[in-house]
Amino acid sequence: MNDKPAVRPDGYCGNTAPVSGSVRSINTTALGSKYARMNNRPYGACSCGRTGISVTDQGELYRHKPPQE
Ligand SMILES: [Zn+2]
Repeated sequence: MNDKPAVRPDGYCGNTAPVSGSVRSINTTALGSKYARMNNRPYGACSCGRTGISVTDQGELYRHKPPQE
């Protein structure tokens, strides 16, 4: 992929839109209700190559840094 999103001056990725189809919820029920409550959030991948990024209720990726080359 050559269309990587811009990186902000502070080093964080400037893209907040998850890659279409990459968002999924991790089923943590088997780990117990405490973990389920803490981690019951969807995760998505960014076009910068980062995966496993938490997604907000608004469907945007949390602030993250792109992976090192
Ligand atoms: Zn990114």
